[in-house]
Amino acid sequence: MKTVLITGGAGFIGSHLCDFLLGKGFRVICMDNLITGDKKNIMHLKNNKNFSFIKHNVSEHITINEPVDYVLHFASPASPVDYQKIPIQTLKAGSLGTHNTLGLALAKKAKYVLASTSEVYGDPKVNPQPETYWGNVNPIGVRGCYDEAKRFAEALVMAYHRIHKVDTRIARIFNTYGPRMRKDDGRVVPNFMTQALKNKPITVYGNGKQTRSFCYVSDLIEGIYKLMMSDINEPVNIGNPEEHTIIEFAEIIKKLAKSKSKVIFKELPVDDPHVRCPDISKARKELGWEPKTGLEKGLMETISFFKQDSNQ
Ligand code: UDP
Repeated sequence: MKTVLITGGAGFIGSHLCDFLLGKGFRVICMDNLITGDKKNIMHLKNNKNFSFIKHNVSEHITINEPVDYVLHFASPASPVDYQKIPIQTLKAGSLGTHNTLGLALAKKAKYVLASTSEVYGDPKVNPQPETYWGNVNPIGVRGCYDEAKRFAEALVMAYHRIHKVDTRIARIFNTYGPRMRKDDGRVVPNFMTQALKNKPITVYGNGKQTRSFCYVSDLIEGIYKLMMSDINEPVNIGNPEEHTIIEFAEIIKKLAKSKSKVIFKELPVDDPHVRCPDISKARKELGWEPKTGLEKGLMETISFFKQDSNQ
């Protein structure tokens, strides 16, 4: 049985990875400091003998007293609202956290997967974004704490790969949605859904013509798994290439939630990317992966989750 350490394992994507890898027969060690993650995401696993939880901040030295075959570094605040509230912790999770997890992978001779992000492309001047695009990031802007931490993390992963021969992977994760998103994380899916379900105004920032492309979480997890099992050391985009404007997205959620909400407009946050869409040619060709879940189906699943979550 192979053992995997998942940092950020109590978060939205991390907890789905825990479920998926337990299902594939891995032993899972979940590490989280529970700043943006939540124990309720992993409660259902607490009696699973192949699962253990360690409350720990990845920015501090990590000790694991058993063999580890894979290290998956998924710990970081990921919502712009979260990371702008705690920029220093975000920079540390991407820099010190990446250093500590890479050091662990080196010591354990483990394979390594970095959760990187489409934010490495910043406010892109090329659309869709292929992995070969170097990006357009404001290093000193309010999103710099996340974008630059992840860019540094990618550089550190490549250095450990080149110098120490650690067997590494870099997943550039685009906007992902699904059950277990925090309803107050400030991102567009939880905001629009909670607003629509309460018939409160749906807050579109700017003129709503900016675009995003949303990947359902189960598709994303499959892509991550295929990357983990591949031998591709260079970054790979994992996301859904179906691109929508935010205003279209507001209308789709309103319709699916059968909501009477009005759409209202608020100021566009600073450095909000104007477009974002993954070019997934590389994932298609080299991983044989592409998303399968249609937007309406994924959104309906997510709406059911938010309905249940607000009853608790
Ligand atoms: N957004 C919006 N209303 C909201 C929350 C977000 O119009 O209540 C917009 C935001 O300005 C951005 C897009 O939705 O253009 C996606 O924002 P999110 O915070 O989900 O993540 P991002 O893709 O910017 O990292």
